Amino acid sequence: MSDAPRIPLARPVIGPEEEQAVLDVLRSGQLSLGPRLGEFERRFAARIGVPHGSAVSSGTAGLHLALRAVGVERGAGDREVVTSPFSFIATANSVLYEEATPVFVDVDPDTLNVSADAVASAVTSRTVALLPVHIFGYPAEIAGMERHGLPIVEDAAEALGAVHADGTPVGGHGHPTMYAFYANKQMTTGEGGMVTTADPAIKARIDSERNQGRAPDMQWLDHDRLGFNYRMSDIACALGIAQLGRLDDMLASRAQVAAWYREALAGLVDRTGVELLCEDRGGARRSWFVFVVRVPRGVDRDATISRLAERGIQTRPYLPAIHLFAFYRERLGFREGQFPVAEDAAARGLSLPFFPGMTQDQVATVVAELTAVLTGD
Ligand SMILES: *Cc1c(COP(=O)(O)O)cnc(C)c1O
Repeated sequence: MSDAPRIPLARPVIGPEEEQAVLDVLRSGQLSLGPRLGEFERRFAARIGVPHGSAVSSGTAGLHLALRAVGVERGAGDREVVTSPFSFIATANSVLYEEATPVFVDVDPDTLNVSADAVASAVTSRTVALLPVHIFGYPAEIAGMERHGLPIVEDAAEALGAVHADGTPVGGHGHPTMYAFYANKQMTTGEGGMVTTADPAIKARIDSERNQGRAPDMQWLDHDRLGFNYRMSDIACALGIAQLGRLDDMLASRAQVAAWYREALAGLVDRTGVELLCEDRGGARRSWFVFVVRVPRGVDRDATISRLAERGIQTRPYLPAIHLFAFYRERLGFREGQFPVAEDAAARGLSLPFFPGMTQDQVATVVAELTAVLTGD
């Protein structure tokens, strides 16, 4: 299994534009806090249709600063943040950074997002913010969550390009919304993230805290609050600008690959009960991030992964439920059975190779191998 897989799980699209953009920054001599930072932020925010963007060193850093900016800070009393147990661990970790409590509610079996009604059932007098996740690029019901009047921070790490049923892009409601740019996301800067917002005060606070608490008009060594180093370099911002230039093409290619997969898997769905992600409904539009299937009930998902690997197909369990990590069980007392839909999705979820530029032949190969493993054909 040390051999390179025939078909990798993910692969970024990097071309001459990215190479030239990075080279230009290297030759400029200004590798951080240069002109690419503001340019990337402005272009990204314009794409979402909100006034502000703050580029940061990772999506996780963006969540941390966005939560702080809406008031989730260490301090007295119980502070709860309602969120999803079916997400990447960074979502809930960002709540723990400020010693607040992530309150999980189970996800909807179709969308795998926490619904607005489920959120409502978990809101208490201790709730200080909502942290919905647009998992696997499917838009969560943000409009329905606004009725509580609580701050909302959106985890859109997997959802750049997704559109709500009301026609606004994810992030377009103006709440602080985090996007992530690790190499497998819809666009990449190597490592990096962005928080968009309609609120200039939130933008100012995040810009200060990512840069050691410095106010924009201050000298380099003046600091007016506790801050972090969560800056994004100009090298990464240049990559981001180049990636934005090809984002529509990459999103269209992902959607095409997903359509090929759906078509090629239709027979296997009927024969075995393997499940696909839900189709778009009510005008909402998924931005394709991963192609996840759920193996049929009773099938050993991890054995399926091993057998696919023997055939040169790289797949991954995707994704584990956060509340069942040992560290969360011990610290917050979670146990199996509390969020059965999330647990079932976590136990049966399998991420197939999926990236822009994947060919229809490669899709057919993956589907043929999956068919062989699941049915013996
Ligand atoms: C990728 C991801 C993050 C974290 O982003 P990083 O840039 O890796 O820190 C957070 N939430 C979700 C749902 C993600 O997929």
